[in-house]
Amino acid sequence: MLPPLRFAPLIKRLRWGGTRLGSSLGKPIGTATDTAESWEIADHGTDQSVVLGGPLAGWSLAQIVSQHPAELLGTTATQTTFPLLVKFLDAHDRLSLQVHPNDQQARRYSPVGRGKTEAWLILEALPGSLIYAGLKSGTILSDLQHAIPAGNLLDFVHVFEAHPGDSYLIPAGTVHAVGEGVLLAEIQQTSDITFRLHDWGRLGTDGRPRQLHLQEALECVDLTRGPILPQRPHTISGISANHVEEIVACEHFIIRRHQGRHSWNLEPRDRFQIFMVLDGQIDVSSDFGEETLNKGETVLIPANCSPCRLRPISAATVLETFVP
Ligand SMILES: [Zn+2]
Repeated sequence: MLPPLRFAPLIKRLRWGGTRLGSSLGKPIGTATDTAESWEIADHGTDQSVVLGGPLAGWSLAQIVSQHPAELLGTTATQTTFPLLVKFLDAHDRLSLQVHPNDQQARRYSPVGRGKTEAWLILEALPGSLIYAGLKSGTILSDLQHAIPAGNLLDFVHVFEAHPGDSYLIPAGTVHAVGEGVLLAEIQQTSDITFRLHDWGRLGTDGRPRQLHLQEALECVDLTRGPILPQRPHTISGISANHVEEIVACEHFIIRRHQGRHSWNLEPRDRFQIFMVLDGQIDVSSDFGEETLNKGETVLIPANCSPCRLRPISAATVLETFVP
């Protein structure tokens, strides 16, 4: 049996980042003011989560996937890399307007091609912070082809205000950007193929505009995606005395939010489960012992780790992710 796995966060500094991964989520960012992402669970090339303690201390996620695939992923899983990438993201400045390929399109651009469907849960948003997600109804390809050189692409993009607690599903092919002032949790397919459509006229650290990928972006854009609206959570009963909602469900992942102070036993699913503490503290107990997780921390429960029990120390909000 594999133990619950905690990993060292992979901290990414990018020019649109800020300081809230430290101030709000307790990440070790030092004095940096451009901390953009904390990759909590990653098996993406050389970006590898490394186990922090216990019998597998020092192992990378890729090592565990290759040596213990069934124990980690489940006895019927066929993946050879960990399928999800889970992160916290602090957009002090807005991100580029972008689009990702689906699985089929991704194979054209990368041999390990996996597309990128992503989901966001807004943790904090400054007043007036914006989300750009999906095209306005009726947009056709030639609208975009004309708008790019004319500089009025935003006329065709659905834009709305970000509110803490809201969640969004951004399927591959959706035109999107996270606006400035948003702190969020992101669950996505393990993929980093991003095609930029628009970068707000900004210059990179070398003083030149960052590269756009207009042709690839227009090949991958799904004109039917939009306008994207917040997900409508629905309550799930029978798991615990907490308020449990399913906030996102798609073919790649299912995300639930648990809120309350009651303990619960994880149901054995023969699937891994990921828990991110968004508020409060929880204890995770298994045959390997008990560990406390603070706000901003993440644990991966392997498929064969059972029994396993989660106990909020006080009222807590916990995000659960698993593969259907
Ligand atoms: Zn994206």
